[in-house]
Amino acid sequence: MKAELLLSALFLSLPLACTSPAAGKASTEALVPDTAVQVNRIIDELLANGQAYAKLEELCMIAPHRLSGSAGAELAVEWARQKMLADGLENVRLEPCTVPHWVRGDTEELVFTAPASLAGQSLPLLALGGSVATPVEGLEAEVVVVHNFAELEALGEGAKGKLVLFNRPMQDTLASTFPAYGGAVDQRVGGADQASKAGALASISRTMSTLRDDNPHTGTMHYSGNYAQVPAAAVSTNGADQIEALIDAGESVRLRLKLNCRTEEPVQSFNVVGELVGTEFPDEVIVVGGHLDAWDVGQGAHDDGAGCVQAMEVLRVLKVLDLRPRRTLRCVLFMNEENGTAGGRAYHQDHLGEMQQHVMALESDSGGFTPRGFGGSMNDEAFALFERMVAPLARTGASLAKRGGGGSDIGPMAASKVPLVGFIPDSQRYFDYHHSVTDVIGAVNLRELHLGAAAIAGLVWQVANLDSPLPRDMNTPPAGE
Ligand SMILES: [Zn+2]
Repeated sequence: MKAELLLSALFLSLPLACTSPAAGKASTEALVPDTAVQVNRIIDELLANGQAYAKLEELCMIAPHRLSGSAGAELAVEWARQKMLADGLENVRLEPCTVPHWVRGDTEELVFTAPASLAGQSLPLLALGGSVATPVEGLEAEVVVVHNFAELEALGEGAKGKLVLFNRPMQDTLASTFPAYGGAVDQRVGGADQASKAGALASISRTMSTLRDDNPHTGTMHYSGNYAQVPAAAVSTNGADQIEALIDAGESVRLRLKLNCRTEEPVQSFNVVGELVGTEFPDEVIVVGGHLDAWDVGQGAHDDGAGCVQAMEVLRVLKVLDLRPRRTLRCVLFMNEENGTAGGRAYHQDHLGEMQQHVMALESDSGGFTPRGFGGSMNDEAFALFERMVAPLARTGASLAKRGGGGSDIGPMAASKVPLVGFIPDSQRYFDYHHSVTDVIGAVNLRELHLGAAAIAGLVWQVANLDSPLPRDMNTPPAGE
């Protein structure tokens, strides 16, 4: 076993001895001594003894519903703080942020009143986060179907007094589901505003999923303030297609929508923070995080319990292996990603004074699936180093180093030129579960989750041990100097 390890270490470090530190061309040399050996130790430890899944099971049991402002969110905060303390992290603390408090209520109904053959039948429905309620008796009206805002506008007065159904599917031909989501989600986020502008009574949007099933998914929506606030809800992909098919067949479809959701006063909540203080450059910080809040349906297992427990595992595994980093690793579990990003904004604001010392921020918020790689938003010089640090992680499946990436919570740090990285797992099943009752622990595979934690830990360990911080624009001398 020992000889094998030594041999593989020799073999893997051979290129270091044989090639000169080539300038320019993409080099595959390790940037940190012993990378192959230590990254493999990290991966082995997390695959054999990882605790991400056990942590996630606990979080999903203790605080399954943890939308910002709710009692569940506060349970999650306290759970995370206790776990960080139990893991032996340093400087464990809560950092305050003020979050919105939206409450779903107990009435969500969408019932056919026409055609007569379907009268009284209901369709599964979820109010969108932030929506106002309907009147107590509900809103009953004819439905018009559109696929985008331009079609709605082209209807002119045609949507007045009606319910608007936005039914543009996520594009099936895109191999990654994230751009497909990005290309369709305007209907959910902005549908109510556009419906109101057209004189409609409410917005009903197609669920953002690549599946065709009866499961509605919720998510955030936004009122611009320019139009009267009308209710907004999501129907399943099958439900949306059923309504459209009826209308296409010449039926006049009428529905009654009832919601009693409400928005209460903002609440103080917290980002949960824990550290491993660096040995040589303690003031230089690498953030690794996910978001602790989740929608109030399902258990937020993939979104984003998975990212939280992976981030926690990065620090724990280095501690267990006694791989204390040269720079400080800071695990930040952000609050309120789903409906406001107050935690991410508060973190940036409250740490403005040390943004220059933020060497990198990484977020895992794309589900606990098999790793594919990482996306990096940074300058060319930093990206060349980033590619070299992703290369040794191939064993986990994380071999892709893609340009562009980050996360909603770390996004505000872009304004301070902090190099940002997003973890990229396989995306095919993410939107099967996203923001719905099916996003539960049973949808997460232990080994996939642990491979992700291993990939992230392997990357973060290298960044934490570089001789110099990742180059960033504000530190890069102008060309020619
Ligand atoms: Zn998320």
